[in-house]
Amino acid sequence: MRAGKTVLLMFMLPAFLVLVLSLLIGLFSLNSLKSQYVESSDVQEEDLQTLHHESIFKRDISELHGRVVAVLDGARKHQFTDIQLYREHSQLVNDLAVIEQLVDSLAGSNLLREVNHNSVQGLQQSFSAYRRLVIMATEIAAIDPDTADTFFAQAQDSFNEFSVFTGRISMLLTERTMLREKQARSRHEGAFVQIFIFSLLGAILVLLMVFAIAYRISSHVRDIADALSKLSYETETELRLPAIEHLKNTSRGEFGRIASALLGFRDNMVRRIQAEQENHRLIFYDALTGLPNRRLLQEQLQYSAGASSRVSNYHALLWLDIDRFKTINDIRGHQAGDQLLVSFADTIRLLLKEGDMLARVGGDEFAILLELPQGLKSDAALEAERVALDICSRVAKVYEVEGHSHYLTVSIGIELFSDKTLSSEDLLNQAEVAKYQAKDAGRNRVCFYDPSIQVEINRRAELENELRSAIERRELRLFYQLQYDQSARPVGAEALLRWQHTKRGLVSPADFIPLAEETGLIVPMGEWVLVTACELLAQWQQDELTRDLRLAVNVSAKQFLQPAFVDMVLQILHQTGARADRLKLELTESAVLEDIEQAIQKMKLLRDQGVSFSMDDFGTGYSSLQYLKRLPLDQIKIDQSFVRDIVEDPDDAVIIQTIITMGKALSIEVIAEGVETAEQRDLLLSYGCLHYQGYLFARPLPITECMALLKTE
Ligand code: C2E
Ligand code: MG
Ligand code: MG
Repeated sequence: MRAGKTVLLMFMLPAFLVLVLSLLIGLFSLNSLKSQYVESSDVQEEDLQTLHHESIFKRDISELHGRVVAVLDGARKHQFTDIQLYREHSQLVNDLAVIEQLVDSLAGSNLLREVNHNSVQGLQQSFSAYRRLVIMATEIAAIDPDTADTFFAQAQDSFNEFSVFTGRISMLLTERTMLREKQARSRHEGAFVQIFIFSLLGAILVLLMVFAIAYRISSHVRDIADALSKLSYETETELRLPAIEHLKNTSRGEFGRIASALLGFRDNMVRRIQAEQENHRLIFYDALTGLPNRRLLQEQLQYSAGASSRVSNYHALLWLDIDRFKTINDIRGHQAGDQLLVSFADTIRLLLKEGDMLARVGGDEFAILLELPQGLKSDAALEAERVALDICSRVAKVYEVEGHSHYLTVSIGIELFSDKTLSSEDLLNQAEVAKYQAKDAGRNRVCFYDPSIQVEINRRAELENELRSAIERRELRLFYQLQYDQSARPVGAEALLRWQHTKRGLVSPADFIPLAEETGLIVPMGEWVLVTACELLAQWQQDELTRDLRLAVNVSAKQFLQPAFVDMVLQILHQTGARADRLKLELTESAVLEDIEQAIQKMKLLRDQGVSFSMDDFGTGYSSLQYLKRLPLDQIKIDQSFVRDIVEDPDDAVIIQTIITMGKALSIEVIAEGVETAEQRDLLLSYGCLHYQGYLFARPLPITECMALLKTE
C-alpha cells in the first residue's frame, strides 16, 4: 500500500523537526564545548610551558651556580690551568647566554606578564646583574681570585635576589593556573546550562508544533467521521456537508482527496434517495392529483386496523364517487376531466383534518381514511356521517373547466371498522358497495355498509328533524313534579319536559335531550321551557294555594354556557311577570365546571335579582367541597341513584350522610330526589334531609293534574 503524501508529511514532520532540533543542539553544544576546550587547553599548554621553563631555569641556574662556586674555588686553590679556567669561563658564558634566553622567554610569557610585572622585571634585572658578575668573577679568577670572590659575593646577592623572585613567581604561577582551571570549569558549567535551556526551549517548540499538527489531523478526522455518520443516517435529499466542502477547498493532499470522495459519495447518495423517492412516488402516489393511490391506502388501512384494535377506537373508510363524471369526460374530453379531478381533490383536501388520508382509488373515485375519536360505535358513526355530509355539501358546487361551468355532486359509501377482522381489500370492497347503495338511493348522499348503522343513523336523523319542528308544532309539554318538606307539605315543583309525539306518544327527555344538546336544539327548547315555567309562576302568584311555591327549571350545560343566558332569563322574568325569587334553576356540575369563574359570575348576576340555584344530580360528578364552597348555591339535590339503594347499600347511606353534612356546613338546603318509599323518606329524615321529591309524594304530572293534587293536599 502506498502511503499518502500529506498524512506521511504530517507524521514525518514532527519526527523531522525533532531530528533537526537535536542535530542543531548537538552541533551547537559540540562547537561551544570544542572552542572552550581549545581555548583552555592553549592557555593551559602555555601556562605549563612557562612552568616548565621556570623549573628548567631553576635547575640550570642552580647547577651553573654550583659550577661557578667550584671554578672559583679551584682557581683559588690553583687546581686549574689558565687554559682550563678560560674554557670553564667560556662554557659558563655560553650557558649563561642560554639561561638568559630562558629568562627572556619566561619574561615574554603571558602568564608571567599577567601574574606580576614587577617580579618579571626584577628577575630579568637581577639575572642580568648575576650574569654580568659571574662573567666578571670567572674572567678575573685566574688573575685575581680575591676580586673574583668580591664579584662572586655580589653575584651571590643577585642570585639570592632572583631566587626570591623565582620563588614568588612559582607561587603566583601555581595560583594563577589553579584560577584558570576554576574559570574553565565554571565556563563548562555555563555551557551546560545554556545547552540545557536551548534543548528545553526546542523541546517545547517541537511539542507545540506536534500538538498543532495532531489537532489539525484530529479535527479533519472528526469532520470526516461526522460526515460519515450523517451519510449513514440522513435520508434527506438536502444533505449539506459544509466542513467537508471546506476541507476539499483547503486541503490538497489525502484529506482533500477523502473530502472529494465523501462529497462524491454524498452526491451519489442524494441521487439514489431522489430516485427512490421518485420510485416511491410512482408506486404509491397518483400522478395526476399527487394523492396517495390505492396501494398506499391499503397499507395505511392495514396499519390503522391494527392501531384501532390496540386502542379500541373506530376508523371510517369513505368511498367517494363523483356523480355523472363520465358525461363530463365524454363531452369535454379527458383533459378537462383531469382538471376537474384536480380541483375536486383540492377541495376535499381542505376539508380534512391532520391525520386523515385522502387517496385516489380509481378514475373519478376517491377514498378517505378517517381516524375517529374514542367512544361508542354510534358516536363514531355519527362523526363519520357528519364528515361525509360536510364533504357532500361543500363539494356540491359549480366548477369552472375550460370556460364551462359544471355542477358536481358526490356519492359516499362508509365502512366503519375497529379491528383487523377484515383485510384492507375487504374494507375497500365494502366501502365501495356502500357507495353503490348511495348511488342507487339517488346520488349526492351518504350510505353506511352496515345496515344496522344506517338504520340507527336514519332513526337519529329522523328524530333530529322531528325535534326541530317539535317546537313549532307545539309538541313540547311541561310536567310538574311536586316537592315536599318533612311535614309532607308541598314547597315547590320541578318542571320536566315531555315531547308529545304524534306517532310515538309521550317521549321521555332521556331519549331526546342528549340529541337536542348535540344539535344545539336545546337552546331554543330550553328557552321555551323557561317561558312556559315562568308563565305558570306568574299564574301561581295570583293563587293563595300556590303563591309560595317555588318552581325549579332544568338548565342544560350548553344552554347555561350561552353568553346571553343571564339576559335571556331576566327578559323572560320581565315579560311573564314571574317573581324571580320563586324561580329556581337546576344546574349540573358539567355546566358549572366548564368555566367556573364565568359560572359564578352568571349565578351572582341572577341571584342578585332573586333567582335561586340548585345543584342537580349531586354526588355523581366531582362533588368537591372546594368548588361547592365558591358557588352561590341555595340547594343541592341528592341524585336519585343514591336514594334508590339507601336502605340496602351502606355505602350510599354514607354518601348521603356526607352530602347532608356538607350542605349543613355550607348552609345550603338539601333535597333528595327519587324518593319512592316511606322507608327511604324516614332514613333521609333521620340523616337530616328535610326536603323530598319522588313518586312516594307525587309523579311528574300535567299542570291540571298537578293543580288538582295540590288542592287535595
Ligand atoms: P332530573 O332533572 O334529575 O329530573 C329528575 C328525573 O327523575 C325526572 O325524570 C323524574 O321524572 C325522575 N323521577 C322523579 N321522581 C322519581 C322517582 O321517585 N323514581 C324514579 N325512578 N324517577 C323519578 P325525567 O322527567 O325523565 O327527566 C330526566 C332528565 O331529563 C332530568 O333529570 C333532566 O336532567 C332532564 N330534563 C327534563 N326536563 C328538562 C328540561 O326542561 N331541560 C333540560 N335541560 N333537561 C331536562
Ligand atoms: Mg332536575
Ligand atoms: Mg336529577
